[in-house]
Amino acid sequence: MGSVTLPGGATVAALGQGTWQMGERRDLRTAEIAALRAGVEAGMTLIDTAEMYGEGAAETLIGEALGDRRDDLFIVSKAYPQNAGRERLPKACEASLRRLGTDRIDLYLLHWRGSVPFAETIDAMHALRDAGKIRYWGVSNLDRDDMAELVAAGGEDCAADQILYNLGRRGPEFDLLPWLDARQMAGMAYSPVEQGRLVGNAALQEIADALSATPAQVALAWLLRRKNLIAIPKAGTAAHVRENAGAADLHLDDDVLAALDRAFPAPSKPSRLEML
Ligand code: NAP
Repeated sequence: MGSVTLPGGATVAALGQGTWQMGERRDLRTAEIAALRAGVEAGMTLIDTAEMYGEGAAETLIGEALGDRRDDLFIVSKAYPQNAGRERLPKACEASLRRLGTDRIDLYLLHWRGSVPFAETIDAMHALRDAGKIRYWGVSNLDRDDMAELVAAGGEDCAADQILYNLGRRGPEFDLLPWLDARQMAGMAYSPVEQGRLVGNAALQEIADALSATPAQVALAWLLRRKNLIAIPKAGTAAHVRENAGAADLHLDDDVLAALDRAFPAPSKPSRLEML
């Protein structure tokens, strides 16, 4: 499993596991727990969640599924923008810690930009870090101009920006990802298989067939070849998780990359960061 080193020095798995829409259905619970555990066994030890997901249900599922593996994990959670101020962030963090059944969140993100000034969120994140409640802090859904503002407000030690980025949404390659790379901030690609839609893409299927791989594996391997990028696919079954883990061993040569560029063209001009 490849890894990414965050600005603060932690080395984390480049291929992690998302949890949006997990933990919300009793009939899927056993399969979801098995999926998360299979992922950790395969080295996908970075687990992404948020207080928003099922209003805490995903965090509770992670605590239940992986409590005994806590020390092997790198847990990422996110706070709602309205909770990102000095009064509310400590409370939101405590609630996430309680649901996760842990004493620290490894990386705590502002989920998207709201009305709380960046400087106040940064101070609140630093206070949580100083108190040992979180190890690193970062953001999500911030475009390059927002990132520049964040840094100007005192956020030079932001560890990561989690963004919508996949083969079909290559906009961030034009300016945001190079901006993050230049500062050694990690990019985190969410919806890396476009919420399952890329798996049904005919051009991707053809490329995958020629490699004796699957479309999901090619989509993930394409992301993983970037040095500073973490991908966090969500999979609700152990079979999908194991398939996705196979992306870590899939090498895409120049011919394959060129075929992918033809099917999914790189951006030729700046575009606004998209959000799901
Ligand atoms: P995704 O990971 O691109 O896609 C998940 C969907 O793809 C699920 O329906 C899953 O089905 C299916 N899938 C996964 N692996 C597959 C495979 N090998 N073959 C066939 N289908 C497969 O989408 P996402 O959940 O939106 O994004 C991933 C994670 O990023 C989220 O879970 C969340 O943690 C994070 N996220 C963050 C933000 C943000 O604003 N920061 C926004 C969106 C997502 P099964 O469940 O049936 O396996």
